[in-house]
Amino acid sequence: MRDDDLAALNGTTLHNLEVTLDLHTRERVPVTKYTAFSWSVSRHSLFERCKRAYYLNYYAARRVIEARDRSISAVWWLKQVTTLRAWVGQVVHRIAAEAVRALRDGQELRRDDLIQMADRIYREGLEASRRGIKHEGEWRVLFEHIYPNDPFSIDRDEAHTAVRDLTNALLDSEAYDFLRSLPPSEAGAPGAIREVDEPFQSFELLDVPELGQVRVFAIPDVLAVEGESVHIIDWKTGSTEHAQIRHQAGIYQLYAHQAYDVPEEAITFRLADLGGAGESVEVLEGVPSIAEAEAFARQSIYNMVARLEDAGHNTATIKNYPMTDDLSHCQWCGFKRACWRHEAIHD
Ligand code: SF4
Repeated sequence: MRDDDLAALNGTTLHNLEVTLDLHTRERVPVTKYTAFSWSVSRHSLFERCKRAYYLNYYAARRVIEARDRSISAVWWLKQVTTLRAWVGQVVHRIAAEAVRALRDGQELRRDDLIQMADRIYREGLEASRRGIKHEGEWRVLFEHIYPNDPFSIDRDEAHTAVRDLTNALLDSEAYDFLRSLPPSEAGAPGAIREVDEPFQSFELLDVPELGQVRVFAIPDVLAVEGESVHIIDWKTGSTEHAQIRHQAGIYQLYAHQAYDVPEEAITFRLADLGGAGESVEVLEGVPSIAEAEAFARQSIYNMVARLEDAGHNTATIKNYPMTDDLSHCQWCGFKRACWRHEAIHD
């Protein structure tokens, strides 16, 4: 199914694909909770990196079943693409969630069992991507299998070793030690650990021009409540210096402030640097204040809405979303087959 859909891109041209996508993304149908405009820090980052990638990800790849067009399905597949390097990070986050949920429930999983679990998930995901099948109910689509002529984002042996090393760093980390020290849930009463990578966690931003309210996604890796304090933990398996981390920390604080009704001073944010052996590190340029985080989100939403064709229907026309001129962004972009840049950047 995946390869058949992707093959549709071989039988068309960039111009024809753009015409097809434009018709699809300009169709004015009432929005649903899946198609209404929403915001997140990762959405902001993609918008800043490449307007075309943003368009393909958030507009072209939605309502795929209704579209009944193989080239649109191909774009949906490209949206699922993740590099092998990113897959390593996803596996470690999955293991972190398992380990912390166990702590929340008053158990502690054994290191050997967690390492084995990480090994298994890593290998199964790789194999699922190679065969074009689902793994644990989700499609795994590795960049390395969609673009086999490109070099690997990380050497396969190195990736396997990284999964183990990062899992060990997680279990040795100062943040994990802290979670171990918290009271678990007991007899139906919640313990200190309240949220562990909760899917679709969000809050509403009100009084947004043109839209009224906007759903903002904020999914902390871990959120714990200890007395009057809220602790947020973010596991980082790659660089701890991306600007996105600072924005994310601010939005998590804003979420905690709203969801737990606590003042700003009562919220702490820990950035657990698993690539750096697990110590907690400072956020580059410091965690923004809640007011700064909210102003940032509102400005980003304003910029995105300004490019829409019809904000009420959340429709977009492709001409407002040009491809980036910076080819370095295309190197690891899953969408490059839909931009006809998968060959150009190797010339
Ligand atoms: S391949 Fe390049 S131009 Fe196309 S979506 Fe990706 S980053 Fe943007």
